[in-house]
Amino acid sequence: MSSSQKHILDKEIAFLKGVGPSRAAHLRTELHLKTYEDLLHHFPFRYVDKSQIVKIKQIESASVAIQIMGVFKRFQEMGEGKAKRLVGIFGDDTGDLEIIWFKGIKWIRENLKAGVPYLLYGKPAIFKGRYSLTHPEIESLEEARLTQGIELKPIYSTTEKLIRSGLTSHAMSRLTMAMLSEVSHLGEENIPLNIRQELQLMDRSEALRQVHIPSNMRSLEAARKRLKFEELFYLQLQLVRQKRLNTKDQPAVRFQKVGDYFNIFYKEYLPFELTQAQKRVVKEIRTDVGRGYHMSRLVQGDVGSGKTIVALLAALIAMDNDFQVCLMAPTEILAHQHYHGIAAMLDPLLQRFHEPNALALLTGSTSKARKNEIIQLLQNGTIKLLIGTHALIEPYVQFKNLGLVIIDEQHRFGVMQRAALWKKAALPPHVLVMTATPIPRTLAMTLYGDLDISVIDELPPGRKPIDTRWKGDQSRAALFGFLKQQIDLGRQIYIVYPLIEESEALDYKDLEDGYESISRAFPPPTYQISVVHGRMKSEHRDLEMARFIKGETHIMIATTVIEVGVNVPNASVMVIESAERFGLSQLHQLRGRVGRGAEQSYCILMCGHKMSEESKKRMQTMVETNDGFKIAEVDLEIRGPGDLSGTQQSGILNLKISDLSKDQLLLSQARESVLTLIDEDPELIHSDNHVITSYLRKLASKKSDLSRIS
Ligand code: ADP
Ligand code: MG
Repeated sequence: MSSSQKHILDKEIAFLKGVGPSRAAHLRTELHLKTYEDLLHHFPFRYVDKSQIVKIKQIESASVAIQIMGVFKRFQEMGEGKAKRLVGIFGDDTGDLEIIWFKGIKWIRENLKAGVPYLLYGKPAIFKGRYSLTHPEIESLEEARLTQGIELKPIYSTTEKLIRSGLTSHAMSRLTMAMLSEVSHLGEENIPLNIRQELQLMDRSEALRQVHIPSNMRSLEAARKRLKFEELFYLQLQLVRQKRLNTKDQPAVRFQKVGDYFNIFYKEYLPFELTQAQKRVVKEIRTDVGRGYHMSRLVQGDVGSGKTIVALLAALIAMDNDFQVCLMAPTEILAHQHYHGIAAMLDPLLQRFHEPNALALLTGSTSKARKNEIIQLLQNGTIKLLIGTHALIEPYVQFKNLGLVIIDEQHRFGVMQRAALWKKAALPPHVLVMTATPIPRTLAMTLYGDLDISVIDELPPGRKPIDTRWKGDQSRAALFGFLKQQIDLGRQIYIVYPLIEESEALDYKDLEDGYESISRAFPPPTYQISVVHGRMKSEHRDLEMARFIKGETHIMIATTVIEVGVNVPNASVMVIESAERFGLSQLHQLRGRVGRGAEQSYCILMCGHKMSEESKKRMQTMVETNDGFKIAEVDLEIRGPGDLSGTQQSGILNLKISDLSKDQLLLSQARESVLTLIDEDPELIHSDNHVITSYLRKLASKKSDLSRIS
């Protein structure tokens, strides 16, 4: 870039014709736009097709924005207080149309002139059989002449304050065009030629121009594709480079061989045949730990996909190489379940090897004497696999030779806790994180760029999909009848109440009221009920849980404390009260507690009367699919990536043009390109890649949001 051009893009917007100090100040405070360059990157959020003008009488579909040419006739002010709105009547030779404004009323009043024709763009809505436009874009014919020949009119986001100072979307468009006419070269290319050719990406300067002044639909799409790719490419590049830096500094233990623990277990004691997906993931782990680099791997699998056995097989590989393993679970209940489940599979092998003490359990409630024994057996290497809770992080827990850390249900653990486990070995142990919170793969790549990802995308054979129903309160009597039938058939039932973190008291009251009405409908001694909630002492809670697991109680009334991992195959009905108050991924987690045995299982979503469109969509999605990844996609669509549980990081992604829920293909392509690039030229020294290093320098010098990610 020549220095004068560089200078031009750094110029302040205040110098642009028609801006001046007051508008410039508004642009800075409202939209953080300061320089030409900022304005250049303030992309339109949609476009209006100007190639057609619709007559008022022909308005039908409300799904797309249309263009109307109407003469402004008069205003009508309506409503009061919050419902206050301004209505304007426009007409063409076929009829009249109402335009409605809730905001910016003063400015509209001052600027629209009766008897003057205007072009209006907006999405028509229908109310009581009449069409109207709310907050349409309005352009005078004179203004329209300036944009003549432009088929697609860009619409920019603005704010009410900006509109009051005259900076409507249209004015923003004019400013941008003025800027574009002043600057011929819109910045250096930053994607290497080979990648642009391979993916047929428009060049940068052209894309930046086209995105503001598209010549036609095709070049607009090409421009947007290019700019999205660029954004995602640099996002991935920074994540991947960060990861390389981490692992390069950390020499890791190498699990060179696969020996008797693994092989004999696999041949003789594996209780079922692995699914293809499980085999693939085990292989990925095996390759990873054999390389001499540090492994940080996230295993994603829907509830019930069989992550435990994968973890166990990974543990056996570590044991074959004389390393110890610890498996950490988020709750006492889960730690117990893992211990008993794994003991059942592993004990025969350990007996055969005369190593009855190789497997142990350590939790907060382990007795002092046993604790001391465990510490000793860990240090002399007798214990090979230690299962436990947060207790494993305590400083007194010291291993002889820790080689692998497995963390189950990752979203309950923070980075700090991961780090604390690392400190327990001379070389950082390999880390395997198992999570049942499905995140669309591409999003996971973005958010966990520092972890490698394996996906178990297949359920063990023979699972029946859970029959999910969505009911209102009027169905309660029928529900109780159904539950009794199920109990008569020998099944067990969960009834879950929402946990309201801000108000434990309220949460508890919900559960208490529920308990009362349920124990009235299901009286002892015929029916036995367990109750589990967060306010109980953990011994008491475990006791209640244990009664349910053993089949001594028929109904388990609980708050979401039972959400993760619990496995009671005989429980075949999950009732979720006030289901509309749960997020999708949480509903799916809860539902995953049933459907673990051979019986047909049910999930009943009990909802209140008042439901938002969004909660209806959540219920509908639950009814329609059992697939955790599909559910995660819908969740992503509804809430955006910033709200997905455990993905708070995404809040700082601050993407300008890409949409992670829609641009997943591009995201994968960007990631592929980055991985190939880094494999071929890790230090980015090849001359073809100078465009990248100089752009990275620019990003760093601007201390942009993007560089904060890593
Ligand atoms: P999750 O992925 O939710 O942790 P688990 O590891 O608890 O799932 O497995 C769920 C159930 O499926 C367990 O009872 C387990 O024994 C069983 N299972 C796992 N893999 C297979 C398989 N390949 N074939 C049959 N059953 C399996
Ligand atoms: Mg599990």
